[in-house]
This record gives sequence, structure tokens and C-alpha cells, in this order.
Amino acid sequence: MSQKRIAIFGSTGSIGTQALDVIKANPDLFSAEILTAQSNDELLIKQALLFNPNIVVIGDEKKYQNVKAALAKTDIKVFAGEDALAEAASVDCYDMMLAAIVGYAGLKPTLNAIELGKPIALANKETLVVAGDLVIQKAAEKRVAVIPVDSEHSAIFQCLVGEGRNKIEKIILTASGGPFLGKKPNFLVNVKRDHALQHPNWSMGAKITIDSATLMNKGLEMIEAKWLFNLEAHQIQVVIHPQSIIHSMVQFEDGSIKSQMGLPDMKLPIQYALAFPQRIPNQFPRYDFKKPSTLTFEEPDTKTFRNLALATDALYKGGNTACVMNAANEMAVFAFLRNRIGFLDITEVVEQTMNKIPFIEKPTLTDYFDSDAEARNFAASLLHM
Ligand code: NAD
Ligand code: MG
Repeated sequence: MSQKRIAIFGSTGSIGTQALDVIKANPDLFSAEILTAQSNDELLIKQALLFNPNIVVIGDEKKYQNVKAALAKTDIKVFAGEDALAEAASVDCYDMMLAAIVGYAGLKPTLNAIELGKPIALANKETLVVAGDLVIQKAAEKRVAVIPVDSEHSAIFQCLVGEGRNKIEKIILTASGGPFLGKKPNFLVNVKRDHALQHPNWSMGAKITIDSATLMNKGLEMIEAKWLFNLEAHQIQVVIHPQSIIHSMVQFEDGSIKSQMGLPDMKLPIQYALAFPQRIPNQFPRYDFKKPSTLTFEEPDTKTFRNLALATDALYKGGNTACVMNAANEMAVFAFLRNRIGFLDITEVVEQTMNKIPFIEKPTLTDYFDSDAEARNFAASLLHM
């Protein structure tokens, strides 16, 4: 395999930094050609000095001078601002984009990379939740591969390798259940940010960690799976599996079920997406069947964790519903992380926003942008922001 030049959008985050670990461990296979961050200029500078990319972009324009000055002795090009972020994705200097920005902000750069014909290693699930139909359609037009990084979707993708046209009966998305598995509303009403940020199995960015605690993450992943694997809503099932060893499963038309397993470690699906179709050796810890352990499964409690029920509604309803839900959720999680609302209020904000914003059955990209903005405005009014 010749060296693959990777553009990491969101290089300072949990996925971005782990991807750079993978690149560092495999210098013959990968280089980092674009690095971007929203506000962590110090880490972005460090990464740039270590990996010597072609381009770095800092989202926060107030940090531009600092980054520019720190990289003055290099020939790294430095840009700042939201538009520059999207434009960098259109510069033909890389072979694959790792979409590792969190939230709606990841959509435009990813669309630009697809437009340029670059394959995508997709961590940013919100891109598919917001505008999955248009993103997948564009990828098909441009014959661009979208390879999932999200562990569940990587598992499904790995189960499908070699299956050709064999039909999927259903997929079974596993969920750890998060830190509040088994808890009821009388407990959840008092939950604080720091407790919700303690995930039992995975160390991730703040937004996805809260989404995991509310089960919204699994809801977003159902919608992500629909677009990635061209499924009908009824073909997608969620099961709670607290040990996070089985990363997800595919059931075929003959009833046979395949799963992909391993210890919970995002480096594996990141490395798999970057190196696909090759598997490359590593020293990551292995799951050991000789150690006594029990793998358990149960139904999700959607009466308590209503975000999963709301996301299921969005999955079935289609149109701009998931886009609206995502925008409200981003706003509500932001407010929760600042201790401005309670844990159960997140669901209230999402539900009220979904009820408020007009339904559009076949949205254009502009409709999605508008629906996102309207939903954010309405959610902000509920949040008094
Ligand atoms: P994170 O918060 O740790 O990092 C986010 C990155 O995006 C940072 O580099 C940040 O600078 C950048 N960013 C944030 N807001 C931005 C904005 N408005 N404009 C431009 N850049 C911005 O998040 P993460 O945990 O690494 O997650 C990234 C994505 O991957 C999310 O969509 C998440 O759902 C998905 N994902 C993460 C994990 C995980 O283990 N962390 C697992 C599966 C999927
Ligand atoms: Mg996941």
C-alpha cells in the first residue's frame, strides 16, 4: 500500500487524536495532510509541528495570529474561520478525509470532500442524521466510498465484507446503556453533568458522552445505519449489551447472524477505516475468552430514555425530522454541559422542537440548513439562551 494522505477534520478531539496515534504508529502507510480544530490552538500547533501537514485550519478566528506565529518557521499554510474550514476540504492535497468534527459543523466540509471525489472515513454521524439522503446520493454520484468509523457501523461494515448482494434481514445495533442503565426518572431528574460524563466503557468527547447517557447516541446511530446500509426503518433493532464486546450484528435472510467483536477501543475502527480494505497489525489489547466473563443482552428502556423513542420516530418519519431533532439535541446538550438545564430537560427541548418546526417531506440542502437554523432558534428560546 502506498502512503495515504489523510485530512483530519477535528484533529484535536477524541477521534482526531486517536487517529493521529494510528498515523504515528504507521508512518509508511499514512501521513496527515490537513489538520483542523475549533478552539484548541495549543494542541493544533503541537500536532502541526509533529506531523508537518500541508494545511491547518483553526475555526476560532481570534486564535489565528497565535497559530500563524507558532508555525511561521514552517511552510504549513494556516487559515481560520468557518468558511476556511469548508474550503480546505476542497483543496486537492489529500487521499481520504477523516470526518471527526462533532455535530452539524461537520456537514459542509464533508460534502466538499465528496464533491472533490475523496473517500470519507466517517466518525461525524450527525452529517448523516442531518442530511443522510443527500450525502449518500452525492457519494454515489461521485463514486466515493463512505467508510464508517463509529464502532457499531464499522462492525456492520466488517460483517458485510464478502457478502456481495446477499440481503440483510436486519441489523442489531448494540448499546452499552451508558452510566445510567437501569435507572428511572426519579433518579435521572437529579443527575448532574459530571456524573453523566462518566461513561463505563468508552472515553469520548463531551457531546457524544452525554448522548450515550441519554441514549440519543443510539438513536442517531439508527439513522446513521439507515443511510450507510440502505435499510428500511423496521430492519434496525437496538439491544443493550453493557459489556460492549459485541460491537453490532447483521442478520441475513437465512437467519444467520454475524457479529464483530473486540475490546472497546476506537483505534481499531479508526485504523480499519483508514487502511480499508487491508487489515494492519497493531499492539492494541486483545479480548481474552479464557478470562471468565458474561456477555448479556436486554431490551432498551425507551419509556425512561425517551430520546431513543423520539429518534425512532424521526427514523420512521424521515424528511427533515432528524435534522430538526439533531439541532435541538445539540443545543440542549450544550446547555446541560453548562449546568443550565437538567438531564431530563434535554428530552423536553428535543420533543418540543420536533413538534414545533414544520415538516418537509423531501428537503433540499437549503431546506436542511434552514430547518437546522429554525430548530436552533426555537430550542434557544426554550433554553432562554
Ligand atoms: P470531540 O469533542 O472530542 O472533538 C471534536 C473535534 O471537532 C475537535 O477537534 C474540535 O475542535 C472540533 N470541533 C468542535 N466544534 C467544531 C465546530 N463548530 N467547527 C469546527 N470544528 C469543531 O468529539 P469526538 O468524541 O472526537 O467526536 C467526533 C465525532 O465522532 C462526533 O460526531 C461523534 O459522534 C463521533 N464519534 C466519536 C466517538 C468517540 O469515541 N469519541 C465514537 C463514535 C463516533
Ligand atoms: Mg457508536
